[in-house]
Amino acid sequence: MPETSALSDLPVSTLKGVGPRLVERLAALHIHTVQDLLFHLPLRYQDRTRIAPIARVRLGQDVMLEAEIVQCDIEFGRRRSLVCRIKDSSGLISLRFFHFSAAQKNMLAAGRRIRCYGEVRSGKNGLELYHPEYQVLRDGEEPAVADTLTPIYPATEGLQQVRLRSLIDQALQLMQRPDALIDWLPADILRSFRFPSLPQALNYLHHPPANAAVHELLNGEHICQRRLAFEELLGHRLCLRRLRQQSAHQRAPVLSRTQGLREKFLARLPFSLTGAQQRVAAEIQQDLTLSEPMLRLLQGDVGSGKTIVAALAALQAVDSGYQAAIMAPTEILAEQHFLNFSQWLEPLGISVGWLSGKVKGRQRQGVMSGLADGSITIAVGTHALFQEEVRFNRLGLIIIDEQHRFGVHQRLALREKGNDGRTLPHQLVMTATPIPRTLAMSAYADLDCSIIDELPPGRTPVNTVVIANSRRDDVIARIHEACRSGSQAYWVCTLIEESEALQCQAAEATWQALQTALPDLAVGLVHGRMKPAEKSAVMDNFKSGALQLLVATTVIEVGVDVPNASLMIIENPERLGLAQLHQLRGRVGRGAKASHCLLLYQTPLSMQGKKRLGIMRDSTDGFYIAEQDLALRGPGQVLGTQQTGLMSFRIADLSRDAGLLDPVKSAADQIENAYPSHIAPLVDRWLGDRELYGNV
Ligand code: ADP
Ligand code: MG
Repeated sequence: MPETSALSDLPVSTLKGVGPRLVERLAALHIHTVQDLLFHLPLRYQDRTRIAPIARVRLGQDVMLEAEIVQCDIEFGRRRSLVCRIKDSSGLISLRFFHFSAAQKNMLAAGRRIRCYGEVRSGKNGLELYHPEYQVLRDGEEPAVADTLTPIYPATEGLQQVRLRSLIDQALQLMQRPDALIDWLPADILRSFRFPSLPQALNYLHHPPANAAVHELLNGEHICQRRLAFEELLGHRLCLRRLRQQSAHQRAPVLSRTQGLREKFLARLPFSLTGAQQRVAAEIQQDLTLSEPMLRLLQGDVGSGKTIVAALAALQAVDSGYQAAIMAPTEILAEQHFLNFSQWLEPLGISVGWLSGKVKGRQRQGVMSGLADGSITIAVGTHALFQEEVRFNRLGLIIIDEQHRFGVHQRLALREKGNDGRTLPHQLVMTATPIPRTLAMSAYADLDCSIIDELPPGRTPVNTVVIANSRRDDVIARIHEACRSGSQAYWVCTLIEESEALQCQAAEATWQALQTALPDLAVGLVHGRMKPAEKSAVMDNFKSGALQLLVATTVIEVGVDVPNASLMIIENPERLGLAQLHQLRGRVGRGAKASHCLLLYQTPLSMQGKKRLGIMRDSTDGFYIAEQDLALRGPGQVLGTQQTGLMSFRIADLSRDAGLLDPVKSAADQIENAYPSHIAPLVDRWLGDRELYGNV
């Protein structure tokens, strides 16, 4: 093993016992180097440092017990199980196994002593441990207890905890060598935040002492975790700044030759632009005529008319002899843009191409060659647009809708597509999630910001009602009435847990229940696990009016435009962020009819919950709602990655660490001024992709 290598250059294969198969499994966890192992932090910890008296254990605790087996029998209930009663000097408890072998039953014979570890649950015989880890002890045997908490790591198939632990321990050993892992946070910064050094923090997190504040650790609030999150956010911030500075030196195509396409387009529109649309369109128009690449965030509430502004920008590119690409995060949203753009621009002789994962074979070849030879001037699509094999002839402008779903990495990858060695395309990023200005500044340090703060005229504001789940029958009756009189309605099922599968199951159950309750209505279902083709078939049926009620998971949040839908029921709205509720609600109130949104909450509702739903009832202004949400919940929750998926980090979590954003900002200043040589290693450590960043 090379003596002096930095751990970031040392592949895991150099560790003892790591063969090709293990390398592969580690790669599945994004672990490639020894340094990656060090940053693979535990999800949680087990306390195996002490043996608990049985009488003291409480429901939900993870405990280690040592006791004598008094009885071991198979129970035949709804599910056959092996139940083992054990006792120590303080009391009795049961262990229950649903999967067991005859050998196991024999080992667990009465009179034997056992050491076991597991979570305390409530079972048939009072408190029980299900499937504990255990060890039958020989006479007089007294295994040592752990002297630190036992880490539980994110793992993957075929890679056991024990194995991971031993690899990480090897990495921790190697970390002790000089220069193996350099702490790039300068001492004065460490001191002013009372942060531990990097090796100290890592050692602690992999092996916290028995008396560690487990609660803090589990919440990610321990000073050692905060120190790492801080460093990661700092790495990102420095990277964004560097990009910004570099892009100021980059050349972009000057998109100035407007030969009347804009006027022709505007003349054909059945309405005129709002004042806010005119203002931001002018800001963008101005940016595009500069030889410095535009990096602009366009914020505007749902329905504020961002698409037209995007179309104007795209037109300017085409009018100057360049191509524009418009990308959206979901098939549904991208398709909607495609329809809009084709309808608006094809009459002007502009060819609009469509590319998504669904587009295959000859059709795909056609689009790809059109983009490559420049005969297609506007491309609309999903992530498919930035796949390796897609080539553009002269890409001058990239428009990304619903920015927060794409990370910085993806944004850069797309920008690289237009990098012909001399110029970089301009970039316009659109989001309907109103982000309070202060937060936007920290989170998008690399972007300028334009805001559409006015809705097109003639909208009837959505009337919002907060209603308890106990009145579900009334709500169903209301849907019936609305649909019978020609309206359409959405029923939105929210996330129960962080599992998409469960969410989809819940939506299916609701769909079935509603079909039974409303037999004379056509009820459709759309959720994230359906194939794109199935999804769009359902959406088409809803758009055409063939379906009257659409049960959906939060997938409809973005991009559905069905003006005839005037009623929306959101189930368990208390689970969602206000920004997301606001997005959802924006799907109704798009036509001339008065629209209603029913927030069907689960009782009992907390005070906080009541206040938040009250805000939704009383306002339809996305920025006001975001500000209120910010005041009630603090910046973390508002920027929460759950809600906005803003960026993805290895350790930091914007919803938890938002309080670090300001200190990170000043630390970034300090490093730029006093320690410029630390910038590159910090960016490298946390953002990695050297090639991508090297040539931006
Ligand atoms: P969003 O900002 O949510 O993307 P869209 O661009 O989809 O909003 O616009 C919502 C609807 O408002 C569309 O049907 C669009 O045609 C219409 N619209 C946009 N601008 C105006 C305007 N100035 N006057 C009237 N209707 C408009
Ligand atoms: Mg939109």
